[in-house]
Amino acid sequence: MSALALRRTFLLAAGAAALLASACASGDGSAPKPVTSSAGATTPAASGPVTVTEPGATPTPAPRGTAVQTPAAAAGPALAAPNVTPRTLTLTGHGVPVVVLDPGHGGDESGAAAYGVIERDSNLDMAQRAATYLRAAGVDVVLTRETEARAAGSGSSFGATRADLQARVSLANQVKGAVFVSLHSNGSGDSSARGVEVYWESRRPWANENLRLAQALLSGVTDSLAAAGYPTRNRGTIDAACWRNNNGRCVGLFVLSPEGTPTSGTAPGATPAAKEATNMPAALVESLFISNAEDASLLRTEAARDAIARGLSSAILRYLGIAG
Ligand SMILES: [Zn+2]
Repeated sequence: MSALALRRTFLLAAGAAALLASACASGDGSAPKPVTSSAGATTPAASGPVTVTEPGATPTPAPRGTAVQTPAAAAGPALAAPNVTPRTLTLTGHGVPVVVLDPGHGGDESGAAAYGVIERDSNLDMAQRAATYLRAAGVDVVLTRETEARAAGSGSSFGATRADLQARVSLANQVKGAVFVSLHSNGSGDSSARGVEVYWESRRPWANENLRLAQALLSGVTDSLAAAGYPTRNRGTIDAACWRNNNGRCVGLFVLSPEGTPTSGTAPGATPAAKEATNMPAALVESLFISNAEDASLLRTEAARDAIARGLSSAILRYLGIAG
């Protein structure tokens, strides 16, 4: 099925409510506790307003300490033009690959929050754990942020969030990442919603790689949680090309979208376009629902967060062809 057909099918099948319900850091006033975050963009949804913060938040201007020890990163040109066929399709043939991990949100833009879990902080914890596992396996890792602060800028305004998200993508390109994985946990106005889902983008030249990465991450995280004694719901992979339906227009996720296409914003009706898109396969993982009491209790549990991190790490290594 063509990408266009896929998108069309997705739109018809899903509808705005379903699209929104699965959005990260979303929730509405009727939700049990989910405290929606910061930058909260409100979007009219069929089943009620859902506040949505942009996935892929908070990069740090430069990957402190971690970045750039990779031969590939050191040798190549500074910045590849957006939208070219990514060299990263040859994932491991040029030295040590760089894995870019993007802990979603940061600073005032804290993501979903409920039941004692703040997404900004749990995302960072899981990213740091995953980075440790990946480095132990011999790959380089760059985190788009290493503190609770945003990757770029401050505040929770629409402009600040957009700049923050763009900085994450630009950083991934600068360090010539082989793969970009954004870490999030979900929020929903439906407190019974739980489990793991992974977003990918069909509108990129390497869409099949995006999907393959998303599938690896989904099975990696759910399998690892199950093996640690925390079986959860596998909610599947989701094409983010129509992550939201904004008055009939498809809106994608900033960190996954092609440049120049409408993406989610943090102000009502805003649909900022990325100025630069990732030059490498990318996916956004929503590990469990902060708005669900059981899932939130897992996210408060160090062993469960560590299981998620191990799952992310093993999936990325498997995707890169480094480990089974
Ligand atoms: Zn999030």
